[in-house]
Amino acid sequence: MKNVRIFIDNNTKFIKMHIITFDIEEWYIEKTFHSGRFERYALFDRTLDNCLQAFSDAGITATFFCLGQMATHFPKVVKRILECGHEIGCHSNVHAWLDKMTQVECRDDTRIAVDSLEQCTGKKIKSYRAPAFSITRKNPWLFEILVENGIEMDASVFPAERDFGGFPEFNSTTPAIISYNGFSIKEFPVCPINIFGRQIVYSGGGYFRFFPEIYIKYKLNHSEYAMMYFHISDLAAIKSKFLSRKSYEEYYKEDGLFFRRCKRYFKDNFTFGNTIDKFKIIIKNNNFINLETADKLIDWNMINIINL
Ligand SMILES: [Zn+2]
Repeated sequence: MKNVRIFIDNNTKFIKMHIITFDIEEWYIEKTFHSGRFERYALFDRTLDNCLQAFSDAGITATFFCLGQMATHFPKVVKRILECGHEIGCHSNVHAWLDKMTQVECRDDTRIAVDSLEQCTGKKIKSYRAPAFSITRKNPWLFEILVENGIEMDASVFPAERDFGGFPEFNSTTPAIISYNGFSIKEFPVCPINIFGRQIVYSGGGYFRFFPEIYIKYKLNHSEYAMMYFHISDLAAIKSKFLSRKSYEEYYKEDGLFFRRCKRYFKDNFTFGNTIDKFKIIIKNNNFINLETADKLIDWNMINIINL
């Protein structure tokens, strides 16, 4: 590991902790919703290789949250990431929005996902991220389900309102311990920033594509804690189609109003500069770590407990 300045002092203040993560789902989404186009699989493979090479060049290991279905149908992808020394976490089984599922469905989804990933990797899966940050005020019981399945660290909380998911009641933008119904779990939230009165992020997904490199660099330099989150599709320069109402509703499980589809089209397609180049520059110039390392560097006895 490079010269990382990420320790906390006795006042639980971070000097610097920048975590980098990926959500790995595209191969499964392609298979399920688009009949598995060969050229798309090839593009995802190439983009993943590009990212893994960039990480290797920078001497960084990330956390890759993978779907259970990736371990079942695309085990080579999961194993390739593992072989490069990265941490494998769980990103649910089928990438369904958890806040639209029952407790029984969530329990099954989590158990199947963790089992599949553990069988594929031969390792215990300790970290988790919900699809679309869909742990919200409606389903805090999910933390209990995660603990039951051996998950120790969660990175699913987006502590502000957003289109999907969002948990504004979670009042910390740095790691905290969540206590719910007698269960505890370590939480690594996304850290939103206030821009013109609106809480948004700069550190992942469409926002990373949207903001210029100079702005992201500036924010990282001035952030004690940051949680970067990427998808292969963020970096693969894929142009999305304008979704039909039916396709939108099938995937997003909400009314496919025209303005929502316009917003989605803009978010999926707007890019400032070349995203993969921006990604490479950012990781080369920052000392990112994965969740496993971050966990070891924190003295959890000094960290806030949030009772839900
Ligand atoms: Zn996802």
